[in-house]
Amino acid sequence: CGVIGYTGKGEAIDFLLYGLQTLEYRGYDSAGVAVLSPDDNLHLVKVAGRVAALKERCDAANLVGTTGIGHTRWATHGAPTDRNAHPHTSCDGRIAVVHNGIIENYETLRRQLMAEGHSFKSDTDTEVVAHLIEDAWRGPARGDLASAVRYACDRLEGSWALGVVCADCPGEVVVTRKASPLVVASTKDGAYAASDVMPLAKATSHCLQLDDYDIATLHEDGTIDIVDREGNAVEHPKPLDIDWD
Ligand code: GLU
Repeated sequence: CGVIGYTGKGEAIDFLLYGLQTLEYRGYDSAGVAVLSPDDNLHLVKVAGRVAALKERCDAANLVGTTGIGHTRWATHGAPTDRNAHPHTSCDGRIAVVHNGIIENYETLRRQLMAEGHSFKSDTDTEVVAHLIEDAWRGPARGDLASAVRYACDRLEGSWALGVVCADCPGEVVVTRKASPLVVASTKDGAYAASDVMPLAKATSHCLQLDDYDIATLHEDGTIDIVDREGNAVEHPKPLDIDWD
């Protein structure tokens, strides 16, 4: 399974599909992407099946936009169907999330969120994350996506590598992890995130490994900001130079 993210000068879908193909060796049963269009809407395409099938549907959907996230799923909660494939979205459809790992306390969270009026569209453990981010975005995070992700993760138990986009944050991808792998890379053409270094090899040889709970915001100009669990800037993230020999 795998997570991928991009924002930059290029068409996001090109890197997302390339990256997902590169991550296929990790195993998966479904695949999906979300791309932020120039008119600030999220467009999702997701399928149970191979990345090749996803690519066909993406070609037909003509996904234009320079910011997006992608996913290959290894189902743990909820059958491998189109509906349960990632990304998963908030109630208003303006926040999309991809996730590798398991949210151990999702049943409790789901019950609380439903009591607060959230309606769910899938059988996955992941979907609670989209709703928690939505709540934080409207509440204490006040429209700051990285903070909203931080508030949401504070309520999670389990393991996660997360990629998040929001229709109201063009040119931004937020990623974080706990006990699941995730690397990021900053280049002059854009900023990248992936479950491992393989998809990044063509773009750069300098990657950063996120520490557990660190939250990275990828910006369209290729820069990346990282904060820790308390929201303090991480000044010297761990370099991970790839030696391809
Ligand atoms: N637990 C999540 C699901 O079943 C993510 C699985 C994965 O790591 O791909 O949808």
